[in-house]
Amino acid sequence: MTTPFKVHKSAKTSAPRSKRLSHAEAARIIEIFRRFEEQESDPRTELDYASPFELVTAVALSAQATDVSVNKATAKLFEVADTPQKMLALGEDGLKPFISSIGLYNSKAKNVVAMSRLLVEQYGGEVPLTREALQALPGVGRKTASVVLNELRVEPAIAVDTHVFRVSQRLGLANGKTPDKVEAQLMAIVPVPLQTRAHHWLILHGRYVCVARRPKCEECPVADLCPSRHLFIAR
Ligand code: SF4
Repeated sequence: MTTPFKVHKSAKTSAPRSKRLSHAEAARIIEIFRRFEEQESDPRTELDYASPFELVTAVALSAQATDVSVNKATAKLFEVADTPQKMLALGEDGLKPFISSIGLYNSKAKNVVAMSRLLVEQYGGEVPLTREALQALPGVGRKTASVVLNELRVEPAIAVDTHVFRVSQRLGLANGKTPDKVEAQLMAIVPVPLQTRAHHWLILHGRYVCVARRPKCEECPVADLCPSRHLFIAR
């Protein structure tokens, strides 16, 4: 569904937040996200989940795996283990057959069960929704915590996966060499009211348009704002 883009008043005043940008560059960045919003006003993760526990489990399972493959596995898994208590009862050996089609499933099974145990023992089976507590869970790093906090609208975060990393570089939004650097750069230039959705827009753009090998520049909605287009569009 699309809606007319409205630049939140604070978006104008908060971009840039901690990095000085020229007026033209700030306008270019806002225009990029305005066009993304025209295409998808309320982007969400493509992972299927019905609770914070299912979300954190799905995100943890999605490392180096596609959302489609994770959804396929969790559709059956969550039928039998949709709470930390049930996951703990299922155990590592019981969990593995459900996720054996996903890469790194041995270590992921170990982490998911260890995470479930900790949630039961320390949090009464609830998922603690603070960055510090999330990142202390087995198998949950900064990226997973950012995705969970952002998706549940607890705090804006721009988790940097392979798509966000590539698209940010091509669009000239960031030039950091590591995901953490790129995340910090994005958080410094994306207007606060857009940060929650920016993560999803960049992922969707990277997944379906600005793909790794042959970006679809001819159909890209921000091609005229992209400093990399000349690398891919024949002149
Ligand atoms: S113009 Fe091409 S390289 Fe630039 S963002 Fe669009 S698809 Fe990616």
